[in-house]
Amino acid sequence: MASDIEIAQQAKMQRISQVVSKLGIPEDAIEPYGHYKAKVSLEYLNSLKDRPDGKLILVTAISPTPAGEGKTTTTVGLGDALNRIGKKTMICLREPSLGPVFGVKGGAAGGGYAQIVPMEDINLHFTGDFHAIGAAHNLLSALIDNHINHGNELRIDPRLIQWKRVVDMNDRALRKITIGLGGTANGFVREDGYDIVVASEVMAILCLANSMTDLKERLGRIIIGYTLGDKKPVYASDLKAQGAMATLLKDAIKPNIVQTLENNPAIIHGGPFANIAHGCNSVSATRAGLKMADYVVTEAGFGADLGAEKFIDIKCRMAGLKPSAVVLVATIRALKFHGGVKKEDLNQENLDALSKGIVNIERHLKNITEHYGLPCVVSVNHFTFDTDAEIALLKGRIEALGGKFVIARHWANGGAGAEELARMVADICDNAPGQHKFVYDENAPLQDKITAIATKIYGAGEVTFSDAARKQLESWNADYGRFPVCMAKTQMSFSADPNAKGAPSGHKLNVREVRLANGAGFVVAICGDMMTMPGLPKVPASEKIDIDEHGKVSGLF
Ligand code: ADP
Ligand code: MG
Repeated sequence: MASDIEIAQQAKMQRISQVVSKLGIPEDAIEPYGHYKAKVSLEYLNSLKDRPDGKLILVTAISPTPAGEGKTTTTVGLGDALNRIGKKTMICLREPSLGPVFGVKGGAAGGGYAQIVPMEDINLHFTGDFHAIGAAHNLLSALIDNHINHGNELRIDPRLIQWKRVVDMNDRALRKITIGLGGTANGFVREDGYDIVVASEVMAILCLANSMTDLKERLGRIIIGYTLGDKKPVYASDLKAQGAMATLLKDAIKPNIVQTLENNPAIIHGGPFANIAHGCNSVSATRAGLKMADYVVTEAGFGADLGAEKFIDIKCRMAGLKPSAVVLVATIRALKFHGGVKKEDLNQENLDALSKGIVNIERHLKNITEHYGLPCVVSVNHFTFDTDAEIALLKGRIEALGGKFVIARHWANGGAGAEELARMVADICDNAPGQHKFVYDENAPLQDKITAIATKIYGAGEVTFSDAARKQLESWNADYGRFPVCMAKTQMSFSADPNAKGAPSGHKLNVREVRLANGAGFVVAICGDMMTMPGLPKVPASEKIDIDEHGKVSGLF
């Protein structure tokens, strides 16, 4: 089979105005960026305010292997399949970050015959949103050091500045740096560091903001650090930063539209980190999709213990979204991985290991139906080496639990390969849509929210907090107690130990550190090590990427 980029380059793309016209969207409603990309105009979206919303479908997954189990691919395949069976559908996905493009994971525009195009653009600079977010973030960084340089009227403690700098690249050498070297002309020397752009709070804010006014208010609420001595928070609004930051984001707030290989419209907008942020495309994109189409298929990063939980408890709660159905993506190979098979041997049939590993999907399925309260279809992303016996075993176990089960072959066959999945999902949306439940109450103390997630969703027996984390949470309850909690935990396991496969129970979850994202409006609970500036592997993907004399890119997956 051809590589993802070879398939993408063979796509017969249509002009973007033609793509959107299929949904009855007028040409004036979009602002084209070249022939194949566009931003949706905010005036147009405003004009649709009274139109009823379409049905929202969330694609999530089991605890994955490092390769990814196919959430993006399934989102694209299901979107194309729904359009094939006559349902007006849009997909909503995150924008990829440059870091992983040159690292291990690769692109984020789907795979095989379920992709969005132009994939080179989407995976590289796209419409410049991430640059705008980086610029807005770094403007605030510059304002902080400039303020200190000019006398530090706000009494910012340089040792307690939390607002770092950002760049959209995996660059471990920038994790911890010293700035202001070279004498008095260059300000004061202090320790600083870089995060990757997708980890910026500005990214989370852009993705949760409801309007330009809300965007500015959230930007102004960012806590950049604390004052000398009395340790009072210093806000971005104290530096009068929010107006200029929002101005830098004036185009980045508009959702982007591209197309699938089958020329169906796809919104790609925003890409907050799935660990220290909530890992979903922007609220504005999802809302736009719900107004423009009858069905919207969207993905939440990581497995259903993290991605789906944050999608519901953070994104849906803040934005008032109401998902109708969930698709739980699984692969036979990942379930064998959970059953103890080594990475090298995953292509071999192994019914014993599969049988053991199925406990992982059983837990996720139970969480979705019982704790999130949503109807769920288990969609197995078919790999060529999956055997009939393995498929039958998994199907039997899922159906024994009353679960809906389907094999999807969109990776090999495009939308045609996911029609059965599409019919099942459409049937749920049309006839028995779910009514989601939150895992915890908004008014519960922050510690109780964390405990609810850990015990109900992760199967933990006990939650412990470091002294520092406990003190912080106690002191935040008064002012920030209504915030949802954004869990930062490995996606490889229900526990905080990436090697604990299957469905561990009774384990101890330790919250090592907590952070306040006051602009985004959530508290981050960090369990285990959490990287906000990834590094590149020994052999980075960049070594294979090239461009020829005619501008044709190769090696981008
Ligand atoms: P996720 O969104 O869950 O991280 P993706 O959909 O991005 O996963 O898929 C991860 C990678 O696996 C992609 O490079 C994709 O091309 C590849 N892939 C997905 N499904 C299949 C499949 N059925 N067979 C082979 N490769 C696949
Ligand atoms: Mg993905």
